[in-house]
Amino acid sequence: MPARTGEQFLERLAADDRKLWFNGELVNDVTTHPQFIGAARAMADLYDAQLADPELHLMPSPTDGEPVHITHIIPKTKNDLRRRQAAIRAWAEMSAGTRGRTPDYLNVTIACFAGRADVLAKHGQEAGAENIVAYHAHVRDEDLSTTHVLVNPQVDRSVTEDKQAGGDVAMKKVATTDSGLVVNGAKMLATLAPYSDELIVYPGYLLPDGADDYAVSFAIPMDTPGLSFICRDSYARLRSPHDYPLSSQFDEQDAVAIFDNVEIPWDRVFVDGDVTAYNAMQIEANWRAHIIHQAMTRAWTKLDFAFGLAHMISETTGVNTFGHVQEKLGEMWHYAEMTRSGLMAAVEGAEPDDGGIITPDERSFVALRGLMPKWTPRVSELIQLIGGGGFMATPSSNDMQGPMRDFIDKYYQAKGATAAERIKLFRLAWDFVGSELAGRNELYERFYLGDSFRMTSLAYELAPKEKHEQLVGRFLSKMEA
Ligand SMILES: Cc1cc2nc3c(=O)[nH]c(=O)nc-3n(C[C@H](O)[C@H](O)[C@H](O)COP(=O)(O)OP(=O)(O)OC[C@H]3O[C@@H](n4cnc5c(N)ncnc54)[C@H](O)[C@@H]3O)c2cc1C
Repeated sequence: MPARTGEQFLERLAADDRKLWFNGELVNDVTTHPQFIGAARAMADLYDAQLADPELHLMPSPTDGEPVHITHIIPKTKNDLRRRQAAIRAWAEMSAGTRGRTPDYLNVTIACFAGRADVLAKHGQEAGAENIVAYHAHVRDEDLSTTHVLVNPQVDRSVTEDKQAGGDVAMKKVATTDSGLVVNGAKMLATLAPYSDELIVYPGYLLPDGADDYAVSFAIPMDTPGLSFICRDSYARLRSPHDYPLSSQFDEQDAVAIFDNVEIPWDRVFVDGDVTAYNAMQIEANWRAHIIHQAMTRAWTKLDFAFGLAHMISETTGVNTFGHVQEKLGEMWHYAEMTRSGLMAAVEGAEPDDGGIITPDERSFVALRGLMPKWTPRVSELIQLIGGGGFMATPSSNDMQGPMRDFIDKYYQAKGATAAERIKLFRLAWDFVGSELAGRNELYERFYLGDSFRMTSLAYELAPKEKHEQLVGRFLSKMEA
C-alpha cells in the first residue's frame, strides 16, 4: 500500500491487537477511546496532509514507483536533504513542533540504517543487513508508523545492565529457537506507542564489551505476542480545543515496553547479540547526523512558533514597548535563527560518507544537540515573563458562552485584541508553556536525544581540535622562556 490516507492509518490501528495498558485498563481501540482519540485523529491529519501536497511530501518508491513519503529517502544529494527537510518542517508545523515523534523521526532512522546495511554485514551480521534493507522497504511501501525503545529502566545507573536487579530487568536475549530469538525484560520509553504500527529496538547508548546479550536490534509489530505497554497518565485534556488547543490533539504518549519472552522472527533481527555490531550500527552508519537533521528541523519550527507567540502576546498587551521585553523577544529570535543557520550549515556542508550516502556536516548538529535542551526551557521561561498573569486571566469556552460574557468582553480586552482574541492567544501560549503537556514536552526536550550534560561533554570529545591548537601554538612558538 503506497502513501496512506488518515482513514487508512486509523483503520489499521483499530484492527490490531496490541496490549496497551492505561490507568489499569486494557485499551481495545485507541481510535475510539476518549483519552486517545484526539491524538489519533491528529496523527491521521499527517497522513492526509501528505496526499494533499504530494509535491512536497511524496517521492516514487524505488520498488514500484508508487508514491511514498520523502522522509524514507536514502539521500544521495544535498537536494535530497533539502527535500527531506521541507517535508519534516511541513509536518512539524502542524503541531507547532510539539510532537516529537511524527513518523518522519523513525523514517529517517530506518533509512539511515538501511542505507548503510554494509556496516552490519562488515561486523558479521550479514542476515541482519539483508533484514534491515527489507524492513526499510516494508515500512516505506506500507507507509507504517513506528515507535522505538532504546533506554533501559532506571534501576541503578551506576552499574552496567547485567549488575542491575540480577541482570533481569533490562531487555536482553534469553534464548534462540528455530524461528527466532527470544527477548525478555523491559525498555523505556516508547513515545507514540498508541499510534504506531511497529516497534523498533536499536542502539541508543553504546554498550560495554561483554554485554552481548543486551546487544540486540530488531523490529516487530505492536501486537506481537508477549509484548505489552504501560502508558503514563494522559495529558489529553478532555475539554474543548478552545481551552487546550495543543493538549487536546498532540499528546503522543510515552509508555514502558515489557517483553515477556517475546519471539522475534529471524527476518526481523538486525543484530543478534553482538556488542561490536550493535555499537557500529549507531556510529558507523552516521545515525547521529541524520537523526539530528530531523530533530533540529522540528526544534526550529517550535522555536519559530514560540517567537511568534511571544511577539503576538507582547503586541496584544503593549509590553513590547519596554526595552527589556524587546531584549527577551530578541533572545528568542536568536535561538530560532541559530537553529536555522545550523541546519543550513549542516546541509550545505554535507558530504558523501564511505557508503555514498550524503551525510550532513554534523558539527553544528552536535552543538545544537547540546544547546537545545537549554534553549527550549529558556524559551518557555521567556514567554512566561512576557505574558505575566495574563495566562491566568483566561476564561474557558463554557465561561465564554455563559452569563458573564458581557463582563468578559469588557474586562479581558487588550490594547491590540478583543477579549475573545486575547483569551485564545493566552490559552494557546499556556498550553505551550504551562499545561501538563507543556511540562512533559519540556522534559522531552531535555532528554530525548540523551541528557544535555553528557551530550555536551561528548561534543567536547567529538570536536575537531587541530585548527584550534594551531591558533594557540602560533603564539606559544614565539614566546621565549
Ligand atoms: C518525554 C520523554 C520521551 C521519551 N521517548 C523515548 C522514546 O520514544 N524512545 C526511547 O528509547 N527513549 C525515550 N526517552 C528516553 C530518553 O532517551 C532518556 O530519557 C534519556 O536517554 C536519558 O535517560 P534517562 O531518562 O534514563 O535518564 P538517566 O540516564 O537516568 O539520567 C538521570 C540523571 O542522571 C545522570 N546520569 C545518568 N547516568 C549517568 C552517567 N553514566 N554519567 C553521568 N551522569 C549520568 C543524567 O545526567 C541525568 O542528570 C524519552 C524520554 C522522555 C523524558
